[in-house]
Amino acid sequence: MATVLVIAEQAGGKVKKASLAAITAGQQLAKGGAMHIGVLGENPADAAASLLGYGAAKVHAAAHAGLAHYLAEPFAKVVADLAKANGATHVVLPATAQGKDVAPRIAARLGAGMASDISAVVDDKTFKRPMWAGNVVGAVEITTAVKVVTVRVSEFAAAAAGAAAGEVAKFAADPGTPKAKFIKFEEVKSARPELTEASIIVSGGRGTKSKEGYKATVEPLADLLGAAVGATRAIVDDGWVPNDWQVGQTGKVVAPQLYFALGISGAIQHVAGMKGSKTIVAINKDPDAPIFQVADYGLVADLAKAVPELMEEIKKVKG
Ligand SMILES: Cc1cc2nc3c(=O)[nH]c(=O)nc-3n(C[C@H](O)[C@H](O)[C@H](O)COP(=O)(O)OP(=O)(O)OC[C@H]3O[C@@H](n4cnc5c(N)ncnc54)[C@H](O)[C@@H]3O)c2cc1C
Repeated sequence: MATVLVIAEQAGGKVKKASLAAITAGQQLAKGGAMHIGVLGENPADAAASLLGYGAAKVHAAAHAGLAHYLAEPFAKVVADLAKANGATHVVLPATAQGKDVAPRIAARLGAGMASDISAVVDDKTFKRPMWAGNVVGAVEITTAVKVVTVRVSEFAAAAAGAAAGEVAKFAADPGTPKAKFIKFEEVKSARPELTEASIIVSGGRGTKSKEGYKATVEPLADLLGAAVGATRAIVDDGWVPNDWQVGQTGKVVAPQLYFALGISGAIQHVAGMKGSKTIVAINKDPDAPIFQVADYGLVADLAKAVPELMEEIKKVKG
């Protein structure tokens, strides 16, 4: 019977939304067995308490000053220790930057096989995962006793909280003596929501014409909607926007309620990162642009004209 350990991410005592997709995968794997949730940090007690309504037998709060800032080495050690202490057969993490970074180290420490970026749980050892930028979906089987998976957040619904049950258990975390040391974290401060947490994203591509064109079309629409901003790799490579705004195969995988693709052709590598969005709206002047194949609403128009008109209409609706 499976004993599943889901690792939730937190910042400032608040659980990150991506963790809820990993919990959904954990619930699917734990059917008939048990699910545990682990949360790491300097003081993850509040985050752990907020995770009591998701069906975990225990929520383990692994507190240590050495876990105040994320570093792969100490986090991997503590997660592996936690997995061993609870006899975990599966360790599940969200496929976030942190999850992707730490999971292989956890797998190595546990002698576990690993499947990254899974899009579905077939059974307790078989998982589906996209390959070739999502052109192929492979089924992979992990043959080791312990299995580690990272979960593609856009493919699993966020787990809904029920009545609080189970208990928070303190785990005596020992991060060891890591060879790397945390020096500083330069946070990009933005009034806009974070790309992977946002419920609305307005993304722009080369069709915005320039850095100034992006600023004049994508950003005002995003601000009007309280949305995060995203971009294609083409304009990141051209230096129009920072690279942490990139959506796609080599950028972030997002799944908001609403995704605007403005002047984006819809290359497979971009679509790989946003096709899980609930509703996709595309504006492109080329009626044959591939983005229209994945869009729920498509407008063949010039951005310079369509976006200001759209904003006027949204303002009217908002009163
Ligand atoms: C290994 C690899 C990894 C990659 N990873 C990523 C990734 O993670 N994310 C990503 O985005 N890309 C990625 N790419 C790049 C990808 O293949 C495309 O080159 C890129 O997505 C294209 O960006 P774009 O849509 O902005 O530009 P283009 O393909 O040049 O499209 C611009 C679009 O704007 C439209 N347009 C032009 N003017 C207007 C206007 N005035 N009004 C309305 N529409 C207009 C055009 O009709 C066109 O469809 C990757 C490529 C490789 C090889």
